Amino acid sequence: MRIIEIAWYRYWDLVQPWMKRRLPWLDRPLMRAFHRYEIWRVSESATRLLGRRWKRSLRRIDIDITYACNLRCNDCNRSVPQALSSTSLTKRDVERFVVDTVASGHDWDLIKLAGGEPTLHPQFLEILDVLRDYRRRHNPRVRIFVNTNGYGDGVKRIIAQIPADIVVDNTAKSGSLQEDFEPFNRAPCDLAEHRRSDYTNGCWITQYCGIGLTPSGYYQCSIAGGIDRVFGLDVGRCTIPVPSDPLHDQMDALCRYCGHFCKQFTPEAQDERLTASWQKAYADWRDRSAKRRRSTAKPTVAAQSETALYTRPPILVTASPMAASAPENILQDSKE
Ligand code: SF4
Ligand code: SF4
Repeated sequence: MRIIEIAWYRYWDLVQPWMKRRLPWLDRPLMRAFHRYEIWRVSESATRLLGRRWKRSLRRIDIDITYACNLRCNDCNRSVPQALSSTSLTKRDVERFVVDTVASGHDWDLIKLAGGEPTLHPQFLEILDVLRDYRRRHNPRVRIFVNTNGYGDGVKRIIAQIPADIVVDNTAKSGSLQEDFEPFNRAPCDLAEHRRSDYTNGCWITQYCGIGLTPSGYYQCSIAGGIDRVFGLDVGRCTIPVPSDPLHDQMDALCRYCGHFCKQFTPEAQDERLTASWQKAYADWRDRSAKRRRSTAKPTVAAQSETALYTRPPILVTASPMAASAPENILQDSKE
């Protein structure tokens, strides 16, 4: 069973884009067959019979250091276009992550900085130094990655300053249109085919990309932290999850809204890509943001830094430490 799944995901990554263009008559039935299998595999009955499909990772972590971004991609799985915010972790938060890691004896294979666009964080290079220091002192074999969109002169200038011992995963975007992105805002819980799904199955991302650390806490994956930012369920963990914590409660709460839960046929119409749960969540998020703007004085960057992660405050929406402190030329790279 596992071999079939690995073969399918290899096909999806390496061959499917070509097949879709050149041999659609073969691609469609293959997709349909595996889609049916996937829906069955995550059903409550199959989960009882075979166990959960994916396990959360203990060795890899994605750290979303900021939700600021200079692009507004369709189907962004951090909701950048619909819930624009520069909520960020601080260097101090990352230092606390390192302290917790060392204190708990956690042994990472891979740490990746992501976002948003992580190079827009005003403390980006300092945060990298915190992680490099952790590697030098405590874990020489950990690989440190930066995931960047590589878009715009400002971002490229920062990338050029990244030390050579960091792996740069540059998706080299040329704009906000992403033809290959899955319909992230198509919530499985809004689709009839998922009415018997067990969301504690998670998806391949938690197993292969790792858990996530975000401004809302630790999650089964960093995407889940972005979902919680919008839905406001507040289910993030405040400390690194212990090995005996499978994070099933988070998967049950958040994977039901995530378009990555199973591979999907991509609807052509844009409005079919935003199902009812997301429409409501974005409307609620905008309401909460407007209320917060009215009721709070503009927070200082220092105040945000103190409360960013460990007390999990309400999500900051419009006050923008990035806007205040990022070099102008970076933010001007934005197309929108
Ligand atoms: S570059 Fe990444 S984070 Fe930014 S909008 Fe596009 S998908 Fe979202
Ligand atoms: S939130 Fe989405 S990406 Fe993360 S484990 Fe669940 S289905 Fe996968």
